[in-house]
Amino acid sequence: MSTIPAAQDSAVRAHIQDRRAAFLDDLVEWLRIPSVSADPEHADDVRRSAAWLADKLKATGFPVAEIWETPGHPAVFAEWPSGDPDAPTVLVYGHHDVQPAARDDGWHTDPFEPVEHDGRLYARGAADDKGQVFFHTLGVSAHLAATGRTAPAVNLKLLIEGEEESGSPHFPDLVHRQAERLACDAVIVSDTGMWSADTPTVCTGMRGLTDCQIDLHGPDQDIHSGSFGGAVPNPATEAARLAAALHDDERRVTVPGFYDGVIELTERERALFAELPFDETAWLHTAHSHAALGEHGYTTLERVWARPTAEVNGISGGYQGPGGKTIVPSTAQLKLSFRLVAGQDADAVQQSVRDWVAQRLPHGIRHDITFWGATRPCLTPLGHPALQSLARAMERAFGQTVRFTREGGSGPAADLQDALDVPVLFLGISIPSDGWHAPNEKVELDLLEKGVETAAHLWGDLAENWHGA
Ligand SMILES: [Zn+2]
Repeated sequence: MSTIPAAQDSAVRAHIQDRRAAFLDDLVEWLRIPSVSADPEHADDVRRSAAWLADKLKATGFPVAEIWETPGHPAVFAEWPSGDPDAPTVLVYGHHDVQPAARDDGWHTDPFEPVEHDGRLYARGAADDKGQVFFHTLGVSAHLAATGRTAPAVNLKLLIEGEEESGSPHFPDLVHRQAERLACDAVIVSDTGMWSADTPTVCTGMRGLTDCQIDLHGPDQDIHSGSFGGAVPNPATEAARLAAALHDDERRVTVPGFYDGVIELTERERALFAELPFDETAWLHTAHSHAALGEHGYTTLERVWARPTAEVNGISGGYQGPGGKTIVPSTAQLKLSFRLVAGQDADAVQQSVRDWVAQRLPHGIRHDITFWGATRPCLTPLGHPALQSLARAMERAFGQTVRFTREGGSGPAADLQDALDVPVLFLGISIPSDGWHAPNEKVELDLLEKGVETAAHLWGDLAENWHGA
């Protein structure tokens, strides 16, 4: 290291203490803009939020800060070249739109009038995601102050979208269109959380997703079950047979080829997961479920983070009214979703499902199967140098060991990984109690500061330890 880390760490902290009040005032100002992307009445607010951020990024020192239009709400792009020709390029992803919120949803205070109380800042977007985007501004300025640099040690880019809470409908398109300007060596997603306030963690991957609807057609109309039942195929029975056949007795998915390419958990990853203070009873409570059940041979965390799964999301067909109706129904429907893990190919999974369905249905049952697209999985191996840098930066900020998690859900991060063909890392300081999408969303101010500190340490560490991985 060019500077003694301890000296740099205290310089970072001093800079943050110096700017803390102004930083929070700015964040509060941004949180007052109700940038609810789902509500057309707030379209101007989403636009105002983008303009506010672009101005603030310029004021931070970013020589480039632009509004990027989409057919929906605008995104913000900013860029700060390092000036060093060997420096890696990093793209930070986040979003400036927020979930809807109204006082009578159960908020104790106005969701768009931020309130600081007991070391927490309450407002819609405080954690998801304005707070976690905004810590990068003070982070980069602390990085410069502590190192005496005039530009970041990495080529720093930011892409802050305005439609994440509405499903990012124009995001894949935007990323493909702007792939050249977004080109980078790694993506840092700041739109996730950590295990808990006293267990800092880095998420290393998210599962992918593909889902479909299968429409089954039997007789041309509902027919009498006494005259015809038992002698012709029944689409509702076939829908149930498909659903039942999806898993074997060990709860493994039976679709041939489904597990092809799956990157298995390493022993080290399993050991690290097992060290997390996981409370299954509390988890079940959050799940509103009465038992845990899944693929044999894996723990609950492994099942939701690192194993591909198939789920019956809905099944319907035939008579649903009061009393009985003795028919062989004409149609039935099945909705299935598949969570994917790294190594699986979404297109191949879709084809396997199509083949499996076609091959299992008897003659006389016609079917249509419609897939609604696919989100790819992403995973950064534990040994990746960028991940190591991120964990080290976080350890310096938190003063304790950082552990590794994954995320069972799926998100737009995978679009970036896909389009830019680079590893995706997750830097989030939010905790489960922050109330994402819920009333009384908040961010813990000391964790927000840790986020600033992590960002301040990260760019120098990455630049020093990046070897063109
Ligand atoms: Zn978010």
